[in-house]
Order: sequence, then C-alpha cells, then structure tokens
Amino acid sequence: MALTFDDGPNPDYTPQVLAILREYHVTATFCVVGQNAEAYPWLIQQIVAEGHTLCNHSWDHDMALGSRSPARIHSDLLRTNTAIQAAVPDAPIAWYRQPGGQWTRSVMAVAENLGMASLHWTVDPSDWRTPGADRITTRVLHDVQPGSIVLLHDAGGSRQGTVDALRRVLPDLTSRFHVNALPSAN
Ligand SMILES: [Zn+2]
Repeated sequence: MALTFDDGPNPDYTPQVLAILREYHVTATFCVVGQNAEAYPWLIQQIVAEGHTLCNHSWDHDMALGSRSPARIHSDLLRTNTAIQAAVPDAPIAWYRQPGGQWTRSVMAVAENLGMASLHWTVDPSDWRTPGADRITTRVLHDVQPGSIVLLHDAGGSRQGTVDALRRVLPDLTSRFHVNALPSAN
C-alpha cells in the first residue's frame, strides 16, 4: 500500500512526516504545490534524498484547473515542474494529482503530455477537515487493503492530527503491508 501526502511542502509538518517515515523505514509519495516547492526547496531536496517520490499537485492548488484552457493547464503544470526541478534537477516527476480530485480529460491529457501519469486515491480519512488523530487513525486502519493509496495532507492548515495519526498507524500498517512510495519514474 502507498501513503501520499498532499499540498506541501510545509516547514512545520513536512519535517515531522519525514522523520516518522524514516523511523519506520518506509517511503511515501509527496504531491507538492508549485509555490510551496519554490518557497521551501530544501524540503523538496530532503524528500528526494530520503527516497520518496514526487508528484505535481499544480502551482497554487487550483481546484478548477481541469476546466481551464489546455494552454493554461500546461503552463500551470510546467511552472510547477520547473519550481520542483530548480530544487532537484535530476529527480523525475512521474505523477500528477489534480487538486480536489476534480479531474477532467483535458487535465489528464496535458499531464500525460508532460510525462506524468494521473494519481488518484482509494482511502480518504478526510484529514484536511482536521477530525483529530483518533478518527484519522481509525479510518485509515479500517479502510486500508493491499494496493490502497491513502490520501493524507502535510500542509494546508493545522496538520498535527495527521502527524500524530501517522505515528499511530505505521506500526500496524508495516506489520500488515509493504508500505512503499509509488515508482518515481514511469
Ligand atoms: Zn490538495
């Protein structure tokens, strides 16, 4: 199964997430927002250095991006990749995740033209609503199956509940599953 962390990087929460993943010797996938990659390049470098996979999550988390013109979508995704590659010139960016999961055919086609496969999720504990670590923990452990892709967030608001839940779910997840980053290249 795979853990994915969206909307970062964030200087308060991403380092905590990375430390917990390191402690349990697991890798994950980080769907980063371009303007955050530009603001915190050292966090992008740490994500890659520790063996995690990068995913483009648009420049500024535009949930309506999929309904904009192909040219606008292309420039948004390219600007995001450029910001990521400014931090990690050699790291592949093989995935795109549409903000809000609001996919359209055109956003998927533009992502594919830029070499990125579309990445959705199968388990969503709605951690962005800040339901608290207990509820995030319960939802993840209840819903996860082999092959699951779990949606979590390391930015976009207070994410301490997500960080605390991560520490609580990993002993169980690592005993039941292989917990791995998605392939970094496709
Ligand atoms: Zn997001």
